[in-house]
Amino acid sequence: MTKELTCIICPRGCTLKIETEGKTVRSVSGNACPRGIRYAESECIAPVRTVTTTMRCKDGRLVPVKTDRPIPKESMMALMALVNATIAPLPITAGDILIKDVYGCNVVATKDM
Ligand code: SF4
Repeated sequence: MTKELTCIICPRGCTLKIETEGKTVRSVSGNACPRGIRYAESECIAPVRTVTTTMRCKDGRLVPVKTDRPIPKESMMALMALVNATIAPLPITAGDILIKDVYGCNVVATKDM
């Protein structure tokens, strides 16, 4: 099977052509550097994403948050539900862990509040 995807590792955005057989990557072309091959393999075998979103604070404002590492794409919706159900305590310093050790990551604040 052949599929095409855009590499999102750097702003160049190479169009990758990937030949797969089941979950095995047979070849990758269109990449301008080796990171494109690793990205293509990861996307085909076990896609991951860093999640950025907002969390409600105790006073009703929203604090921007992100996962401190990429998580499996299939866990994103469950993580979002957990973030939406959580109220962040105040005060907050950028880098504070607001949810610890979920889906292989921590959810951290990216702004002081
Ligand atoms: S293949 Fe390399 S150069 Fe192309 S977008 Fe990916 S990281 Fe950037």
